[in-house]
Amino acid sequence: WTEGTLEEAENSLRELAALAETAGSEVLDGIVQRRLKPDPATFLGSGKAKELRDVVAATGADTVIVDSELAPSQRRGLEDVVKVKVIDRTGLILDIFAQHAKSKEGKAQVELAQLEYLLPRLRGWGESLSRQAGGRAAAGEGIGSRGPGETKIELDRRRIRTRMAKLRREIAAMKPARETKRLNRRRNSVPSVAIAGYTNAGKSSLLNRLTDAGVLVENALFATLDPTVRRAQTPDGIGYTLSDTVGFVRSLPTQLVEAFRSTLEEVADADLILHVVDASHPDPEGQIRAVRQVFTDIDAQNIPEIIVLNKVDAADPFVVERIRQRERNVVVVSARTGEGLDALRERISESIPRPETVLDLLVP
Ligand code: GDP
Repeated sequence: WTEGTLEEAENSLRELAALAETAGSEVLDGIVQRRLKPDPATFLGSGKAKELRDVVAATGADTVIVDSELAPSQRRGLEDVVKVKVIDRTGLILDIFAQHAKSKEGKAQVELAQLEYLLPRLRGWGESLSRQAGGRAAAGEGIGSRGPGETKIELDRRRIRTRMAKLRREIAAMKPARETKRLNRRRNSVPSVAIAGYTNAGKSSLLNRLTDAGVLVENALFATLDPTVRRAQTPDGIGYTLSDTVGFVRSLPTQLVEAFRSTLEEVADADLILHVVDASHPDPEGQIRAVRQVFTDIDAQNIPEIIVLNKVDAADPFVVERIRQRERNVVVVSARTGEGLDALRERISESIPRPETVLDLLVP
């Protein structure tokens, strides 16, 4: 169900499928439902839900992923019809974040986002909670999985809020360490280049190409939740750092915006941004706009930017040409075939700040 056009719904579903594959699922089928309002009981409405049940039975799917946010009662209602697990978009993204968060800060941010997502849903779980009334209530068994009834839920809520406050303090305390690192780098005046862009645009592939870093590349959104920093060199031997950032997604759930933005601090501090764009995507220009909006939000709008128009091997030449003409600083590449990468290396070399002349004199 979508407020937008059918085409928007299909683009969104395509991304959802990519997200699901990132989370390790195999995508079997997709269904689009048009209606004025989501059904309060089953989200899809009973007719469509039954159709979905048949698709589930025919494909042998074990999970249904809904490209929207479901109320807890809708999720249960739909599960009762389709007889398999139902998760929503936010749940899926949280799952991926949890899988891929590696740094202490990344983990703390993901946990905070998970708790924020969980908190308003506790009441809706009352039913399943009371079924476990006699069950063990081991500490740390998973918040919300213990104890029945409203009082218990209130207690859990309080615990969650306490935990969230603690996480916020921890995250705030981690910032100075990063600041210090950054200042040190500034002092050493090593130019920094940040790679940013949508999920699946080819950021990790490009990082590999530019650094031979052996960073994990997979058809995986968020393979790079934690900022990874590598060393690279211009063709004439000037060293710089190259950092990969977490990918953008369409309609990022609000609970995740903070976690997402703080991973983009690297971008706000960079000397140059490589804004990677998938030229074979149905709406590359819309993606460029959305990424730029976030650059503005994090105060990175004045940092020099190269639009790296990637996947030219798979793109419509007409679209490539159109973007090349409309945007100021475009380099057309294919991280897959290697096309355009030398030109990109040259452009990076021209765009990063040069060490002071006095430093040049020190070099024999
Ligand atoms: P990231 O999510 O932005 O880091 O993107 P990845 O580097 O993981 O690439 C996402 C997918 O796009 C992978 O399946 C890559 O093999 C593929 N890909 C990356 N660059 C190119 C390219 O230039 N051409 C084509 N056809 N596919 C590419």
